[in-house]
Amino acid sequence: MSLESDLERYRLNPTVGIERIDIGTGALSAVRKIIQGLSVHGRIALLVDAVEYRAAGGALVKSQVEELLGELGVVTRVQLDGDVHADEHTVATATEACRSADVVVTVGSGTLCDIGKVAAAGRPHVVVQTAASVNGFADDQSVLLINGVKRTTHSGWPTALVVDTGVLEGAPPLLNRSGLGDMISMFTAPADWYLASLVGLDRGWNVEAARMTRRYGGRLRQIARGVGSSDPDALATLAEFLTLSGISMGIAGQTSPSSGMEHTVSHLLDMANNSRHTANAHHGAQVGVATVVVAILWKRIRQKLADGRLEPVLLPSALDAEVTVRSAFDWMDPDGATATECWTDYSQKLEHLRAVDAPELVAAAMTHWSSHETALDDLLESPENIVTALRDAGAPTRFSELENPSEPDDVVWALTNCHLMRNRFTIADLAYLSGNWTPELVAGALSEAAELGAGL
Ligand SMILES: [Zn+2]
Repeated sequence: MSLESDLERYRLNPTVGIERIDIGTGALSAVRKIIQGLSVHGRIALLVDAVEYRAAGGALVKSQVEELLGELGVVTRVQLDGDVHADEHTVATATEACRSADVVVTVGSGTLCDIGKVAAAGRPHVVVQTAASVNGFADDQSVLLINGVKRTTHSGWPTALVVDTGVLEGAPPLLNRSGLGDMISMFTAPADWYLASLVGLDRGWNVEAARMTRRYGGRLRQIARGVGSSDPDALATLAEFLTLSGISMGIAGQTSPSSGMEHTVSHLLDMANNSRHTANAHHGAQVGVATVVVAILWKRIRQKLADGRLEPVLLPSALDAEVTVRSAFDWMDPDGATATECWTDYSQKLEHLRAVDAPELVAAAMTHWSSHETALDDLLESPENIVTALRDAGAPTRFSELENPSEPDDVVWALTNCHLMRNRFTIADLAYLSGNWTPELVAGALSEAAELGAGL
């Protein structure tokens, strides 16, 4: 088995709706065959943003695709201007503009692709990826801003994914380094998912989906240096990683294989920026930095579990929990919509944990913890190795190094409250419910990260 053969093997999984994946040098020309192979292709909506994408050598990517499509049908360019967010208004605008098309072709990066998946509304959707920036291209989900909160929403598989290595080489290096950062989440997210299944919160645990990319963790660390220097082979491998990761989320029916606590921290930082109308950092770069801190938190709580020292899990009353959630998020908007959105999800998590008697499940798991240690060994990675991979790629290791850095207070706020935003269970939930989620634990993890040249 190899990463390349796994990609094709899993693409053929009956749950996966992608009919074709083209990754490599000159892959852009595949767009012609893909469109010709569709049963309908007369009216083509070309969904783009205002960013100018140039491939290695200087060719303009959007113009190249537009020219190609012009030979195949009537092309309507749907351009979303400004700094594009996948909010309700933008998604509705794109959907309306694509309404009369037979096929939607999206040329852009992650957010645009998320919008395209909704706007295509079940029609053929070809995605031309402009950077190896995130893992959200090859799945049937979109991260949308709903009431100001980042929510993963079921949307639709792209029919075909085209990743031209020349286009990736021409992308800003920090975008491809962000893609590596997004993949770095494989070193903590599957462990959070495993934990969620242990406490009965996630019945969809699927070891195959959890290990699909994780089993190539060593290879990811090896290509980090090449990603940093925009080496074409390393970028192609990174694109394969991101695609396989997207497919693993599609097969799992949820983002859990690649989205744990490190993603909730990143989402909260974005939400804080949005509420202050300041720019976000690149998603994957932020996720990579957060992953180091989460790996340290995992190490600390895992030690307690291994020693049988974890305090009993206690579930707060709904009344107390609502006060906690609202006090964490009330500042974000004048009408409390964000806090209400978070409480809606958190209250479901709490009810579920109560229904399955999560405290008892944790106590039972601790009686034979060594078997879980073995499973976690295969899923987690040392904070040191994670920092080395980020550094090899020239990616940020500190929140202050992000191109839109977060203030230390915001980072501490995001870490402290990340477990309150959604209906998922991560290491932060276990630490919180066992009484370990103290300012000292968060500060201790950040100072350990600082010793590694990471964290704040
Ligand atoms: Zn991500």
